[in-house]
Amino acid sequence: MTKPSLEAQLALDAAHVWHPYSAMHSPTPVYHVASASGVNLQLSSGENLIDGMSSWWCTIHGYNHPRLNRAIEDQLGRMAHVMFGGLTHEPAIQLVEKLTRLTPPSLESVFISDSGSVAVEGAMKMAIQYWNAKGKPQKQRFATLRNGYHGDTLGAMSVCDPVTGMHSLFNSVLAQQFYVERPRSGFDEPCSDADVQPLAELLQQNHAQIAALILEPVVQGAGGMHFYSPGYLLRARQLCDQYEVLLIADEIATGFGRSGKLFACEHAPISPDIMCLGKALTGGYLSLAATLTTCDVSDSIDAGNPGVFMHGPTFMANPLACAVANASIELLLESGWQQRVAHIEQQLTRLLSHCRELPQVADVRFLGAIAVVELKQSVDMASITASFVEAGIWVRPFGKLVYLMPAYIISDDELTQLCHRLSDVVAQLPD
Ligand code: PMP
Repeated sequence: MTKPSLEAQLALDAAHVWHPYSAMHSPTPVYHVASASGVNLQLSSGENLIDGMSSWWCTIHGYNHPRLNRAIEDQLGRMAHVMFGGLTHEPAIQLVEKLTRLTPPSLESVFISDSGSVAVEGAMKMAIQYWNAKGKPQKQRFATLRNGYHGDTLGAMSVCDPVTGMHSLFNSVLAQQFYVERPRSGFDEPCSDADVQPLAELLQQNHAQIAALILEPVVQGAGGMHFYSPGYLLRARQLCDQYEVLLIADEIATGFGRSGKLFACEHAPISPDIMCLGKALTGGYLSLAATLTTCDVSDSIDAGNPGVFMHGPTFMANPLACAVANASIELLLESGWQQRVAHIEQQLTRLLSHCRELPQVADVRFLGAIAVVELKQSVDMASITASFVEAGIWVRPFGKLVYLMPAYIISDDELTQLCHRLSDVVAQLPD
């Protein structure tokens, strides 16, 4: 069969393909990628773009990495997939061994799933089953922070920010949860009492109904790219213990070094009762996620009714995905990632701090391998994307937020180009 031309493919895409958070017949163009390698996206139209997004926090080692490619090829020769009900395999066992070794020691029981949203659904169901088993079946609701983001399935959506998550649209199907103001104390500041007060009051009044507090530790991602004081995590941990509420750390975006620690909980440090991982878990190669919990939670679920954890995705622990996750974690641990991420933070700070002086810019902030340039006005997505592509970089803002989260393997030269071109485009925006 002959391949359709590029134009024909784009016409088919425009006619039939839904892209994330887009209209079916969107006026915003999509760009056709022919291949990707290192931190470069090669467009089918010929342009070469330096990628500043690592495909939404995932491709920490860059694209087309020989070690990751080989891990998949080797596993492919053995088996691409096998059901996980009643069967097990080495890639999954090795992965669980690594995850339990690298995360806080109390997290010993692992449920592997296929996407971040499902990992969050799993975490919420674990919390409900735990309290049911403990004789507190009324604990079925969740507390969460405003400006949070935890995924797009209905359970996960219920704990996203109610305004940006458009809860009113899904009023009758979304569970009603409890939302508290996000902490305002910055990453380098101690946590203020004013920050903790709303959570303390909420838990004091409603703990009998609350199964867990779910939050993104230190970095709120898709809900606003805010960084907050690790001290808040310590206080939240204490309050959860005091009021018998489980603490779920959603490390789907922050996991695997992005904030400067392997897991953002380590900034406090705290040990959550449940932790969700995804995104960079496979180095961005395949969709895979994990929900880790304590023996207290898993033993209680075992001892409760019906004595099993009520979840089991078809593609649970896909061997290809587990094999590449193992290779990605090994690569990360051998890579001197902590120095790399610290170096990237320094470079981002050096290259982008001057954007604060631009009339279009409201704030600039950095943490680990994350840079955020917050604008005063929301961007016009189509035109800013076209400007970035013309400048030879791939950056995908949302709302007022233009941000970078490059692969850790980005060279100094590539990062310099990326930042210069980004600030040039921002400087051209109307103020
Ligand atoms: N939690 C967080 C913190 C996330 O950033 C995301 C994805 N942006 C999710 C959950 C959902 O993950 P997925 O898109 O893989 O379902």
